Amino acid sequence: MSKRILVVLEEKDGKLRNVSLEALTLAGQLSDGGEVQAVLFSSQAASFQNEIGQHGADTLYVIEGEAWKTYTPDAYSQALVQLIEQAKPDVILAGHTAMGKDVAPRVAARLQIGLVSDCTDADVQEERIIFTRPIYAGKAFQQKAFLEGIVFATLRANNFEVKQSGRQAQIIPFEPVAVDLRTIIKEVVRKTAGTVDLSEAKIIISGGRGVKSAEGFKPLQELAAVLGGAVGASRGACDAEYCDYSLQIGQTGKVVTPDLYIACGISGAIQHLAGMSNAKVIVAINKDPEAPIFQVADYGIVGDLFEVVPLLTEECKKA
Ligand code: FAD
Repeated sequence: MSKRILVVLEEKDGKLRNVSLEALTLAGQLSDGGEVQAVLFSSQAASFQNEIGQHGADTLYVIEGEAWKTYTPDAYSQALVQLIEQAKPDVILAGHTAMGKDVAPRVAARLQIGLVSDCTDADVQEERIIFTRPIYAGKAFQQKAFLEGIVFATLRANNFEVKQSGRQAQIIPFEPVAVDLRTIIKEVVRKTAGTVDLSEAKIIISGGRGVKSAEGFKPLQELAAVLGGAVGASRGACDAEYCDYSLQIGQTGKVVTPDLYIACGISGAIQHLAGMSNAKVIVAINKDPEAPIFQVADYGIVGDLFEVVPLLTEECKKA
C-alpha cells in the first residue's frame, strides 16, 4: 500500500546535508509509489528545488522568514505540527542530527504520534514499515513497527544510500500561523568553522589520551586535512582538555558511521566503541598490543602514533 512520506530537510553552509538526501532516497523506497513531500526552512529553497526533486521529492514545502532562519525548538516544532496537520503524511523522516533529535520528540508529543529515533535501517514487510535501531550502546538491535497512526523517525547519518530518481519537486510556500515564540536566536558563534562535520564525515581521525596534549592532535589534523576527513576524540582526550567536547565520540558523545575510522592512542573502552564500532573500516594505532581497540579493528598498527601518523600522512600525500 502506498504511503505519503514527509522528509524534514536540513541545509548547512549553503548545501543540503547528506543525511537529508539519504532520507529522501529512503522516502522514495518506503512510499511504494506514494507522494514524497519535503520541507525546508530556508530563504534559498528555490536553489535546491532541482536537487530535492532529483532525489525523490514530489512536493517541497518552503518555510521562510526571520523566525525560521536558525533552528529554535519553539519555532520549528510549531511550524512542523501545522504542516503535518495540513500535509497529512503517514511517515515523517528527519536526520538524527542535533536538530532532528530535538525537534522529532517535540512534534511527536504535540501530535500524539509514534516516534522512533536513531534508525539504521527501515524496510517494508507485509505493508508495515519495520524500523531498526541500535540499543544498549550498539550491542543489540531493536526492530519497531507501528500498528497504526503517523510515525516520526530520525535516521542515523551514513547508513542509507543516496540515489537520484529524477522526480520534479513542486514548490509550495507554507506560512505557519500564530506561532508563540519564547526564544529568538540573535547570533550563532561557531567553534568549529570550516572543518568537516563529524557526524556526517566519511573519514574520521580520532585521538585519545595517547596524544598526550592539545599539541599532540596536530599530526592527526594534518592527516585529516590530506584525507579530507574530520578529527574526533575519545572522552579521555576531552577530559584531559586536549580538545573540545564537541569532538567526543562514544556513548555520551557523537555516534558516527564513517567509511574509515582511524583511532590513534585510544584504548577502546566500551563507551568509546558505542560511538564508532559501526564504521565500515576501523584502523587502530596503539603502542599497546593488548589494547581492546584491536579487537574491533580491521587493521591494527602496533606503534607510537607520533611516528606512525606522520608516515601515513606522507604516504597519503603521494597517493
Ligand atoms: P586511555 O584508556 O587512557 O587509553 C589511551 C591509549 O593510548 C592506551 O591504550 C595507550 O596504550 C595508548 N597510547 C599512549 N601513548 C601512545 C602513543 N604514543 N602511541 C600510540 N598509542 C599510545 N569514552 C569515550 O571515548 N566516549 C564516550 O562517549 C564515553 N562515555 C562514557 C560514559 C560513561 C558513563 C563512562 C563511565 C565513561 C565514558 N567514557 C567515554 C570513558 C571511557 O570509559 C574511557 O575512560 C575513555 O574512552 C578512555 O579514553 P582513551 O582511550 O583516550 O584513554
